[in-house]
Amino acid sequence: MRLEANGLSFSYSRRDVLSDISFTIEDGRSLALLGRNGSGKTTLLRLLLGFLKPDEGEVLIDGRNAEEMTGRERARCIAYIPQSSSSVYAYSVLEMVMMGCAPALSIFQKPGKADREKAEEALETLGIQDLGRRSVNAISGGERQLALIARALTQNARILLLDEPTSSLDYSNQLLVMETLEKLRDRGYSILFSTHNPEQALMNATDVLILQHHRLSFLGKPEGLLDGEKLEKLYGRGLCIKRVNTGENERIICIPR
Ligand code: ADP
Repeated sequence: MRLEANGLSFSYSRRDVLSDISFTIEDGRSLALLGRNGSGKTTLLRLLLGFLKPDEGEVLIDGRNAEEMTGRERARCIAYIPQSSSSVYAYSVLEMVMMGCAPALSIFQKPGKADREKAEEALETLGIQDLGRRSVNAISGGERQLALIARALTQNARILLLDEPTSSLDYSNQLLVMETLEKLRDRGYSILFSTHNPEQALMNATDVLILQHHRLSFLGKPEGLLDGEKLEKLYGRGLCIKRVNTGENERIICIPR
């Protein structure tokens, strides 16, 4: 499913936060969103989700203006995956993942057998089928992040938006979440994730968007950042960006000078 932002501009009480942002994410592509704190990443995600209305521009989902869609229709196309955090309610992982079925149910309808099977299938896709009965508060942050992704898959949406999905995770869970996103992308999902780690943008995304001074300062493939200039300007630091052959594949890495 194609997600398109066309000339999006937004201001909070006349303070410009985003100006003229345009990009497209096609099926099987992933876009990493980079920007310093306060650059408007969360605001952009909220515009794409329809939680905020742009001052100018539009969001198109498979060519259809998202503003003309109901909340339920949008939820069947776009799923938002928040940062992993513990819940005040001790749901089981399976119960939480089944909540992804809600947009497809009527107000008084309870999830049924087919919904349970769909949730179990999503857990299996993410390789966490053994966690179904565990409480969401009794699993690791990385496992919880995978469970949140499973909930999004149960929602049946083909566009996944993630706000800093690895922010509180240890290194091995960061890799696990990023590799999971790569697998979903290869299965045709359209993915957008924000991150403070430039290496995730260089290594794990097909495209990168940099937000700076309210504007889009770069949109293109990770290879377009190899000269270092854009990322050095963004972070105000000397950086060495290189292609490295790991023996198994080629990766682009970023090291401070
Ligand atoms: P990021 O996610 O990149 O850190 P945000 O989108 O959260 O950036 O914020 C962009 C700018 O908008 C910041 O300057 C922030 O202070 C401001 N901002 C965010 N939310 C609000 C709000 N509800 N009201 C007013 N200003 C806000």
